[in-house]
Amino acid sequence: MQWLKSLLGLRDDYTDLFLPVPPNPAQDALAAIDDLSRAMKNHQGAVETCSALGNLYRMRGELDRAIQMRSSLLQRPDLDREDQARIWFELGRDYSRAGILDRAHEALLRCREIGGDIPALELELALLHAKGGDFMAASRQYAKMGHAPQAAHYLVRAAASGDATDLGLLAEAREIYPASPEAWLEGIMHQIRREDWDEVVSLLDQGLGVVGPHLGFVLLDPLLDFDDPATPVKAILPADSLDALLAVIDRHPPDLSSLYCAGCLLRAHGRVEEAKTWQEKALLLNPAYWPARLELLTMSLPEQRMTPVFTLQLDFLLHRAREAKRFVCGRCGLKRGQIFFCCPKCLSWHSITIRQLLSDEAS
Ligand SMILES: [Zn+2]
Repeated sequence: MQWLKSLLGLRDDYTDLFLPVPPNPAQDALAAIDDLSRAMKNHQGAVETCSALGNLYRMRGELDRAIQMRSSLLQRPDLDREDQARIWFELGRDYSRAGILDRAHEALLRCREIGGDIPALELELALLHAKGGDFMAASRQYAKMGHAPQAAHYLVRAAASGDATDLGLLAEAREIYPASPEAWLEGIMHQIRREDWDEVVSLLDQGLGVVGPHLGFVLLDPLLDFDDPATPVKAILPADSLDALLAVIDRHPPDLSSLYCAGCLLRAHGRVEEAKTWQEKALLLNPAYWPARLELLTMSLPEQRMTPVFTLQLDFLLHRAREAKRFVCGRCGLKRGQIFFCCPKCLSWHSITIRQLLSDEAS
């Protein structure tokens, strides 16, 4: 290496320039594309090599080039049926990524014609139906694959896509997957819109029993209005239904978010002392649960004697704390202000949790 250093006029204390550099996947992909593209110019490469190059183009978002590569590959006379099916499949994925959904569908169907049903193809078709807004087709496709949570999810999306909620489809979704939180939630939302509070409480009772304590907060969330972070929680549930709901929450195993929700509703109806007790019960389960602490702090403010400057500072801090995203994906740590059923980042289903600590990592 000494000769190179003297050639470049480098001193010995610059040796760290020659240490291995950290891997850079984007640069590596670019280098692989350059090498493969050069090889292709001279002679036709093996099908696998061309296909790999197409995948690299797609990975880099160069979808036109990926599509071109597959299309010219499909013209080759030396392809066996397995190659043909694979190329049609990858072409379908290229079109899907490019948002050209009808061509994606055609390519995937050609793949099925030639290669038969394979799980990756079936999944790609389901994703494509969902992407194109054909929720019924997406649901059928997931049901065919035996993926009940997803089949129920898209039935619920189909049920909610018309002017009025299709209760038949919701019932079907609950039959396919009884623990479907979205099916229960949509039913509850429908009854909230109708202001049929007895039915809301009854659905909550049934739903909390089957979705599991870790997802109970999803069903209780629409009862609290967090839309305006500047104001405390507003109660949607009328006062005369509150005791029935508290009895329901009490009947199910104690859960942090249910206790918190009960406390919020009590405060919103002016029953502050009871509200404090429920928030303290939540803190017994997890002393670091910040939403309950925030509620307790807010409720204790009228008892404090504070200077106007201190009040101003505290109002600012409380306002900012209420703006914090309330949900976090249990798998990848993605934070969101709204309920989600499929994590937009890691694509896990029903991995949503209530964010318990303000210091939770990740974005
Ligand atoms: Zn995630």
